[in-house]
Amino acid sequence: MSSDEYNDCGPTSGWDLHCHTVFSDGTKTPAELVDLACTIGLHGAAITDHDTTAGWKDAQKAAEDCGFPLLRGSEITAQDRRVSVHMLAYQYDPENEGIVNLFRSTRQSRLKRAKRMVSRLSKDFPITWNDVMSQTKKGDETTVGRPHMADALVAAGFYRTRSDAFAGAISSSSKYYIPTPSPSALKVVQVVRQAGGVSVVAHPADYSRNRILLSDAQIRELADAGLDGLEVWHRGNGREERERLLGLARELRLLVTGGSDWHGAGKPNKLGENLTPDSVVMQIVERGAIPLVS
Ligand code: AMP
Ligand code: FE
Ligand code: FE
Ligand code: ZN
Repeated sequence: MSSDEYNDCGPTSGWDLHCHTVFSDGTKTPAELVDLACTIGLHGAAITDHDTTAGWKDAQKAAEDCGFPLLRGSEITAQDRRVSVHMLAYQYDPENEGIVNLFRSTRQSRLKRAKRMVSRLSKDFPITWNDVMSQTKKGDETTVGRPHMADALVAAGFYRTRSDAFAGAISSSSKYYIPTPSPSALKVVQVVRQAGGVSVVAHPADYSRNRILLSDAQIRELADAGLDGLEVWHRGNGREERERLLGLARELRLLVTGGSDWHGAGKPNKLGENLTPDSVVMQIVERGAIPLVS
C-alpha cells in the first residue's frame, strides 16, 4: 500500500490533517484550501481552525463541488498544568452543547486576552484594537489570536513579516505576552469524546511553543481519559522526540497522525508537508459522529 511508505517527514502520501483558514489565523479561504489540496494530489484534508467550526460549511461545499474528501475538525486551545496544549479534534457533532460552550468560553477569553495584549503593545507600538480587528478576514467569525496582532504590527511598518513579529514583540517570551486562559486538556478530551469526536494532541513536542513538553505521564493520563492520537508528523516535533512519541503511541495504542499546520501565507509551512496515512484516517472516520465529506 502506498500509504505505508515513509521518509523523514512521515508518510509520503495521504491526508493533511492540520489546516487553518481565514476563520482563524490562516490567510486563505476554506475553498482555497480544498482547491490547493486537490491540485497537489492529497488524498484528502481536514479543516482545523482554532476553537471554531465557522469554516466547516464553506469547506464542505467546496469539497462536495469537486468531490474531494474532507474531515471536519478544529484545533482546541488547552493547558495541562504548566504546559500549553493544542488539541486537534475531528468529526464531532458541532451542535453538541459541551463543544458549543467550550468554544464560546475560549473565544471570549481570547478576545479579552487579545485586548489586554494590544493595550500593552500600544504603549510602545502605536496600534489600536481596530487595527487588529481589521486584520481579521471574517470579522466576528474569525478566532482572534496573536497572528492578527502580528499582522497589525506588519501593516504599521514595525516588522516585515508575521514571523518577524513572532520573533519579536509577539513572542511568548516578550513582556507584552499574556496567555489565553484555557480549559484543561483532560476536559477537552472528555468534551470531544462526548460530542462523538476523535481527539489528537497537536505538535506534542514543539519546543518553539513550550519550554516544557507534556511528559509521558501526562500523555498516559490523557490516553486513560480517552485521547485517540498524537500528531507525530509535524515540523515542530524534534527527531528524538518523535521516537519518544512513536513509542508512547505503540504502548498506549494511540493513532499516529501528521499535518502541516498550514496557515496559507501566514507561516512557511507548506500544505501537505506532513501527512496521515489513509488507514489512520479510516479509523478516525469510523470513530467519529459525522460522515466524511466527499
Ligand atoms: P495564540 O493562539 O493567539 O497565542 O497565537 C498562536 C498562534 O500563532 C498559533 O496557532 C500559531 O499557529 C501561530 N503562530 C505561531 N508562530 C507563528 C509564526 N512564526 N508565524 C505565524 N504564525 C505563528
Ligand atoms: Fe494558528
Ligand atoms: Fe497549534
Ligand atoms: Zn495549528
